[in-house]
Amino acid sequence: MNNITRMLPLTHIFGALVLCAGAETALAQAPPPDHPAVTVRGQTYTPRSILARNMGSEADRITAFPPHRIIDNIYYVGTNTLSSFLIATPQGQILIDSTYERSVPAIEKSVTQLGFKFSDIKILLGNHAHGDHQEGDALVKQMTGAQVMAMAEDVPALQAMKPGGKEHPIDKVLHDGDRVTLGGTTLVAHLTPGHTRGCTTWTTTAQEGGKTYNVMFGCSLRPPAVLTPALVEEFNRSYKAVRALPCDVQLGDHGAQYNMQEKYAKRKDGGPNPFIDPASCTLEADVQEAMFHAILAEQQQATRP
Ligand SMILES: [Zn+2]
Repeated sequence: MNNITRMLPLTHIFGALVLCAGAETALAQAPPPDHPAVTVRGQTYTPRSILARNMGSEADRITAFPPHRIIDNIYYVGTNTLSSFLIATPQGQILIDSTYERSVPAIEKSVTQLGFKFSDIKILLGNHAHGDHQEGDALVKQMTGAQVMAMAEDVPALQAMKPGGKEHPIDKVLHDGDRVTLGGTTLVAHLTPGHTRGCTTWTTTAQEGGKTYNVMFGCSLRPPAVLTPALVEEFNRSYKAVRALPCDVQLGDHGAQYNMQEKYAKRKDGGPNPFIDPASCTLEADVQEAMFHAILAEQQQATRP
């Protein structure tokens, strides 16, 4: 998949792309720049390569990745490149991220394939207010009647998201540190702003082999091409915040952020659970923070007299 993504012409990758950037309309017209470049743990990244890695092709964005159990009651039900997580409890399910509206049928199919009923989704949560993660909220609400909860700081951006003219449903507004509980599972909402104002990192715990593991559903930490002083403050706060969270299992809003495809391949081979990988917990923060500083340095260089 990664090789295929690499071989695709950029016009194919970015052609129909609206989203996941600070300046969404600008992005729809042109891919982000191929500079600055940063190297983290031996791999080199540019803003353009990161976005290509995250999004893949249009087919990747709407095609279901094989649904699978990550750990305990936490499952992947997203597409090849857009994450959607199902947390199954005796009282129904929690879904994190509806993704694009056009990808909702793929998610529904994955939920069914795992043996759950889509209509048993009781709570719909979001990662951040960009269309590739939350555009499908209204449709999921229609199909399931789930209670939709959103971080206060993301509410204005969500309200502006109206696929086919549908109002974005918001049943409960959350704040930093709020807990969401269903059927014995509790998720904690951590405000980690920058990528969007209400970017939400979710944490919970999971059991395996008699041990408890900390699971972190990371929010995007990807900086935009232009950093304002307000954004600099938000990102600095968020990089610090995510590093302070306990983590054994790192997940993210795009599978590429946690090497989902490679880990899934290992999972199929059996052996120890590859998703339990504390060493990789800060990898995405390391990449994005390095990029943030490189963008900032470029920006300061450009404005120097
Ligand atoms: Zn985004």
